Amino acid sequence: MKGRVISGKEISASVRQKIAKDAREFEQATGVKPGLAVVIVGEDPASCVYVRNKEKGCAEVGFYSERHQLQAHASTEELLAKIEELKANEKIHGILVQLPLPRQIDEKAVVSAIPPEMDVDGFHPENVGRLLLGEARFLPCTPAGIMKMLEYAHISVAGKECVVVGRSNIVGKPLAMLLLQANATVTICHSQTKNLPDVTRRADILIAAVGKAHFITADMVKEGAVVIDVGINRLANGKLAGDVDFDAVAPKTSAITPVPGGVGVMTITMLLENTLKAAQCQIERKNPDRTSFY
Ligand code: NAP
Repeated sequence: MKGRVISGKEISASVRQKIAKDAREFEQATGVKPGLAVVIVGEDPASCVYVRNKEKGCAEVGFYSERHQLQAHASTEELLAKIEELKANEKIHGILVQLPLPRQIDEKAVVSAIPPEMDVDGFHPENVGRLLLGEARFLPCTPAGIMKMLEYAHISVAGKECVVVGRSNIVGKPLAMLLLQANATVTICHSQTKNLPDVTRRADILIAAVGKAHFITADMVKEGAVVIDVGINRLANGKLAGDVDFDAVAPKTSAITPVPGGVGVMTITMLLENTLKAAQCQIERKNPDRTSFY
């Protein structure tokens, strides 16, 4: 069996068209352009690329965006002061602080300082709690992008065996929760999991979020499985590679996502969706008599 490739690029293009249309209608109705502020500390090359892509995404769907660059030695207090300034900025509805942050910065304090209604990454403890309760305000972007890809590819997760390799707070754990809420039977694996290939071979849908290039090999995948590759790894030759050994694994799958052009582009698209939602909610709260925008 040769797996069909689920193109994050194609799905993104279609979702972004809809976001751009909704944003235009929202602006016509309210005079407000959805606005995103991205704060970056230091000049980590990968983070700089992500931030540039977020700015490009905003421009593509007609959003307002601001980038705030702090020096690599910035303190927690400086970053908190920047968040305070952005909270008061009328043009801004979503605030995103690019992670990871330099060691001297208290990441928890920073994540908690972003008001939950402006937390378009969905990392604030209140938003994480809401997600767990099935009452999410903003879905974290990467897991939301994966669920959207499955939906667009007409892959139902209800009743399926889903195995998530990786348990980070930004990918593995929230994704497992979303799959569970969509009625999958979910197993989460990590570095202490015993006999990992035995577990991954059970998967109807296997999701790799490990951060190790080509970690998932063909012998770890069941014939006909759907494989979602979250990994973004830079090889010595400068090329990007996923966590899945794509060439060897794809022939065994019924569907697979590529790297690049898979989950990564969807992540930014979901950030745009969250930013529009943030703008809609904030304007609605200021004008409770208006009809709902979403
Ligand atoms: P992370 O915080 O480093 O977590 C990696 C997870 O993999 C951990 O839970 C770890 O287990 C597990 N792991 C490591 N070695 C393992 C092994 N030998 N067997 C089984 N599990 C193992 O990484 P992350 O932030 O979730 O990111 C994962 C990958 O996705 C990275 O390549 C990252 O760049 C990429 N990513 C992509 C996007 C996107 O938009 N496409 C977004 C976010 C991240 P322990 O918990 O036991 O240590």
